[in-house]
Amino acid sequence: VERTLILVKPDGVKRGQIGEVLRRIEAKGYRIIALQMREASADLLAEHYAEHTEKPFYADLVAYMSDGPVVAIVAEGERVVEGFRSLAGTTDPTSAAPGTIRGDLARDWGTGNIENVVHGSDAPESAAREIAIWFPEL
Ligand code: ATP
Repeated sequence: VERTLILVKPDGVKRGQIGEVLRRIEAKGYRIIALQMREASADLLAEHYAEHTEKPFYADLVAYMSDGPVVAIVAEGERVVEGFRSLAGTTDPTSAAPGTIRGDLARDWGTGNIENVVHGSDAPESAAREIAIWFPEL
């Protein structure tokens, strides 16, 4: 069965949205098989966002993702990678469709960061890589 790595990012934790995100994952029918709350270190974020370390927004992304604890979740189910991306909505929360997590729970705050409440792996290969980073014991 497929697995994906989901993060409730620091903005979602601060705004009290952990339960709502978990509720949507479970309501859709995916199984939560691992869950952990923790602060992401700079090293861990560099691994997780390896494809972005050279981007101009990388320093701001690390500041955003280090600004409080995150909740890391492994969810399981048939086509869960694509399914959770669909639940999450598009990256920009202002234009994300209502009904999606980002469309319903996030917006632009004018901070320069894209604060969009959740992360979800973008492909099964990324999911395997990211699960190994966040849950080496799995
Ligand atoms: P995620 O990987 O978090 O599910 P995504 O796949 O929609 O989101 P990516 O392009 O992988 O988006 O970017 C990862 C994260 O980096 C985004 O969710 C956002 O928080 C931040 N980000 C992406 N592009 C920008 C940008 N141009 N300016 C500022 N932050 C950005």
